[in-house]
Amino acid sequence: MAIGPTDNAKPGIVLVTGAWHTPVHFEVLRVALEEQGYETYVPRLPTLGKTGLTWKDDAAAIQKAVEKRMDDGKEFVIAAHSYGGVPGCGATKGFTVHERAAAGKKGGFRAILFIAAFAMPEPNVDLLTAFGGKFPEWMAHELPYTGNASSFVQPTAKYAFFNDVPKDDADRYFELLERQSQDAYEVPVDRVPSNCGIPHTFLICENDQVNNIMTYLTGRCVVAMRRVSGLSSKARLRGTCIALTPRHALNTQATGSQTTNIEALKVNKDRLMETLHKTCSWGTGKRWGSGVNDTGMSRLALSHTDKEARDWFVDTTSSLGCDVKVDAMGNIFAVRPGRREGLATFAGSHLDTQPSGGRYDGILGVLAGVEMLRVLKDHQAETEFPVGVVNWTNEEGARFPISMVSSGVWAEEIPLETAYNLREVGGGTATMKSELERIDYLGSIPASYKSTPMAAHFELHIEQGPLLEAENQKIGVVHGVQAYRWFTVDVAGRDAHTGSTPLGNRADAMLLAARLITHSHRLATKHSALVSTGILTLTPGSTNTIPGHVRFTLDVRAPADSTVAALEADLKRDFAALAAGKNILGLLDEATPSKPLEVSWRTDSVSPATLFHHDCIAAVRASAEAVTGDTKLVRDMTSGAGHDSVYTSRHCPTSMIFVPSKNGVSHNPEEYTSPEDCAIGAQVLMQSVLRFDHMRASG
Ligand SMILES: [Zn+2]
Repeated sequence: MAIGPTDNAKPGIVLVTGAWHTPVHFEVLRVALEEQGYETYVPRLPTLGKTGLTWKDDAAAIQKAVEKRMDDGKEFVIAAHSYGGVPGCGATKGFTVHERAAAGKKGGFRAILFIAAFAMPEPNVDLLTAFGGKFPEWMAHELPYTGNASSFVQPTAKYAFFNDVPKDDADRYFELLERQSQDAYEVPVDRVPSNCGIPHTFLICENDQVNNIMTYLTGRCVVAMRRVSGLSSKARLRGTCIALTPRHALNTQATGSQTTNIEALKVNKDRLMETLHKTCSWGTGKRWGSGVNDTGMSRLALSHTDKEARDWFVDTTSSLGCDVKVDAMGNIFAVRPGRREGLATFAGSHLDTQPSGGRYDGILGVLAGVEMLRVLKDHQAETEFPVGVVNWTNEEGARFPISMVSSGVWAEEIPLETAYNLREVGGGTATMKSELERIDYLGSIPASYKSTPMAAHFELHIEQGPLLEAENQKIGVVHGVQAYRWFTVDVAGRDAHTGSTPLGNRADAMLLAARLITHSHRLATKHSALVSTGILTLTPGSTNTIPGHVRFTLDVRAPADSTVAALEADLKRDFAALAAGKNILGLLDEATPSKPLEVSWRTDSVSPATLFHHDCIAAVRASAEAVTGDTKLVRDMTSGAGHDSVYTSRHCPTSMIFVPSKNGVSHNPEEYTSPEDCAIGAQVLMQSVLRFDHMRASG
């Protein structure tokens, strides 16, 4: 397809089209690039006009379009638009210059540029899931995940696609769109920016009507915001050719001068730790070592000690110049004014603990927020918009048995009355409402995101798992919280005498349950997911009776909803097969065949994956890299546990920051994070809040 004189010193360019778009749509750009001496290809994506084909077929077509030229030694930059980000990134697999060199081949992909494109947040997620599990309204589609489906656009999409294009051009370009295989968006990806192994950067179109909300910024590069208004107009396309040159794709760009101010502000590690331990004198728990701070915490929500910690929080933040408000769930919002009016960017977490908890879970997040306020005051630093710190009530759900209940009320997902009527565990008569009244924290403003909206919510938290410590890493950039589903499985066999029933005559519900649970572990391994059984009951429960009925629970978790759904399908299929006596993966080897049994399922709970906001994730990553000075110390993560950030993310941009937990231990007095790691986390938290504030100001 290359025409005209090309410059062999320049890399080639592969333009990857978005959904329903064809090479014709990119002709103006292709010609402009060729005129500048770039050998340019625009492969036609095989998913166009077809069903059943996926992004993998598109990725293969991209590779095929340039493989011969790579064999000649040619290197290419991928410039992917919109959906093209998925197959474009996928095409790098085995085809980067590094991978090809390792295989003794020449050429390859040198860099990738995402132009208002989907840069997927992590592997094993499909595009639809990343899009929030729902196709946009302007799209014509079939039922998700049914396979062999075809997708197209509604007439209303014309504005979204071609909003700044002259009407005649818009009409013509719209006519040229083709149907596309819906399966392309429903298959999990394996290559993402963070693991593609080549430089990658993002071009964000501020006037983009299609992808603005979903352009994930996950790369290990500083995001360059560019004022490019739409990409489809001929004039704009010519104008943006400069931005598409490899120089821009290869170099990451510094953000504005504001960041130097941000980086000049440093948290005071000693003050942070001293204050944290001081506040832990309210509700001190079990001693586990001989050091002065070697005790855990037992500060149940709305207890006397929780009130003391709250009073300290209110007094301290007030004295730091904050306006402090308490809502009807006792959530405390401390807001420091900015240069301009507007919503506050919040740091937040919780001051309550488990009855046998530690000094860091939740507490670190709030205390780091207070340290941020102190640093800002020390430097008399002004933020553009207000910044705040929030303490959420009863996050743990340890005293009043719903976790994250008060952020849940704030998000209007848990009714206020349900929360108020929660009775304390352990047989006491106190309710949340009576305790809020007793300690004088039943505030007058409604507990709702409508009454206390936030510009953003950043939460610093201990990892509560082993990954950061195991890899000697310092900061987890949290992209979301994993999905889970809970099931109750009933296995029905037949009660029988253990002494008089030969093995071949049994329908032993426990034996089958053991096999099912064993197999669930294997399937979890296959899907890189988690499956756990926490409750198991046998009936009738007698030493000399083979149990005729067993009930057990399954807790299934994975970062992506699609993984949980696929694992559930595999579990149901294989459980039925095992019940019917089929030998799967040798489970029945050397065993006596059994009489048939029945397996039935009940779904108890479905919690979809939470995906945090790209702007917040980008702010956390940029801050983490700036603070640690080494990308190897920073990793992308999905939270295994729930946090208040799950609820805030429903109503404002949100992300979390994880710091290492010693031995991965939490909800335990010995929970520990070193002062150095606490300070690094607090520094990243402060920078993230300030970066977000700058981003809004320059918005
Ligand atoms: Zn927590």
